[in-house]
Amino acid sequence: MTANPALDVLRNVFGYASFRGPQQAIIDSVVAGQDALVLMPTGGGKSLCYQVPALVRDGVGIVISPLIALMQDQVSALHQLGVRAAYLNSTLDLEQVRATEQALLNGELDLLYIAPERLANARTQALFGRCRIALFAIDEAHCVSQWGHDFRADYLLLSVLHQQFPQVPRIALTATADERTRQEIIVRLGLEQARVFVSGFDRPNIRYRIVQKDNARQQLLNFIRTEHPGDTGIVYCLSRKKVEETADWLNQKGLRALPYHAGMDHAQRQKNQHQFLMEDGLIIVATIAFGMGIDKPNVRFVAHLDLPKSVEAYYQETGRAGRDGLPANAWMAYGLQDVLTLRQMLASSNADEAHKRVEYHKLDAMLALCEMVSCRRQALLGYFGDELEQGCGNCDTCLEPVATWDGSVAAQQALSCIYRTGQRFGATYLIDVLLGKSDERIRNNGHDRQSTFGIGKALDEKTWRSVFRQLVAKSLVEIDFEGHGSLKLTEACRPVLRGEQTLMLRKDVQTAKVGRDRVEK
Ligand code: ADP
Ligand code: ZN
Repeated sequence: MTANPALDVLRNVFGYASFRGPQQAIIDSVVAGQDALVLMPTGGGKSLCYQVPALVRDGVGIVISPLIALMQDQVSALHQLGVRAAYLNSTLDLEQVRATEQALLNGELDLLYIAPERLANARTQALFGRCRIALFAIDEAHCVSQWGHDFRADYLLLSVLHQQFPQVPRIALTATADERTRQEIIVRLGLEQARVFVSGFDRPNIRYRIVQKDNARQQLLNFIRTEHPGDTGIVYCLSRKKVEETADWLNQKGLRALPYHAGMDHAQRQKNQHQFLMEDGLIIVATIAFGMGIDKPNVRFVAHLDLPKSVEAYYQETGRAGRDGLPANAWMAYGLQDVLTLRQMLASSNADEAHKRVEYHKLDAMLALCEMVSCRRQALLGYFGDELEQGCGNCDTCLEPVATWDGSVAAQQALSCIYRTGQRFGATYLIDVLLGKSDERIRNNGHDRQSTFGIGKALDEKTWRSVFRQLVAKSLVEIDFEGHGSLKLTEACRPVLRGEQTLMLRKDVQTAKVGRDRVEK
């Protein structure tokens, strides 16, 4: 025995030698009766954070979980260890429910797993009132958030736990850790006093790289050929059509690629997935339909040919690389068009306005990650509240510090051009005006007689694209998705437009490499 009862339980009951990461701190805090909010990725070791204190504290630990299958697994695993555990959910018949309730009342349980909808039941509340409760663990706590995709109205009932049993400590756990979700969990579950523990989100063996699109398909091919010949990888595309085209094209180039998307024949899709899992050296080109539950350890790269719609999605998709812990690459090519496409998709979706606003914000955060000039991993982890003290040394911005240039004048020219052409045009048109291209459309609109016509000749087209993209990313300009992607000025652009603010822009690394990328068509 040690002087640490939690450690004793860990060793004697679970058979592990030591706690992992913040487990000890979390457990200490719950054992002491404090509320906790635990954010850890899947596989991080959340279960022990409530199982151990449930065994250390007097009474039964009540675990609220929405996943019935998981409940059964956990309970049988606990039985193997000699822990007195049971569950209450809709799969039980009346007799089984009675027996479990009796065991609970007799103080014969260490852990009771229960489905959230049961808490609404006056019977359950009365039951809880008659036994000694060690703690409440709220698993999958993000289900209380409307910001995420897993919202469950039943979870809103969980606030009654605190009202009814204010002395019982609560521990809420989730693998979803962005700031908004966290805030919502705290507010809706009344966890203002809880200590928040965020950990384990870093995937140090994954190297993050985001390049500017410049013939993306060719960039992808170069990336695979130079860095991953013969390796297993996943390529994500937004549309089914692009999945098909990209897979075909990679095959033509002598690589072994298989398509995967929800529009494919079911049998064929299963076959491709199976082949990808069984064989090595295959590339699967897929929409986001691919990946749920895919756990292939030696995926050496994940490539994105289109921008994911949120940082969470990016983290999850890139996280399928390097599960074996060996070096892996997360590579992405993105351009302003991606943002446009995603925004247009959103604008035309049936979602309600509040939901759309949330999604726009998520997209903006993703865009900001793309335009980072400091460490990408720091930003990525920071998004989840998991801190990294220094630059990681294993992302593109750390490895090749981003060169910047004073883009104030260019920005002023771009902004005036948007303004003087009536905020009705997209980047391509505006760039033509700035470069003084006298095509028919420009002449018909009279924009060739306009003061910004041809004032941008000092920069080339590619640089202008980069300028517009960054103006959008910095929210100095917004895309009007109802106006077919025309650009509009925002309030924030005024100081730049008036020349009161210096604007440093990133020099696109890609521009320097264009020569090599263009070798093969
Ligand atoms: P999560 O619920 O966060 O997805 P789990 O609680 O299922 O993760 O834990 C993932 C795995 O890690 C399990 O197999 C668990 O037994 C193991 N594990 C957790 N903590 C420890 C530890 N301190 N020592 C050894 N193994 C651990
Ligand atoms: Zn870094």
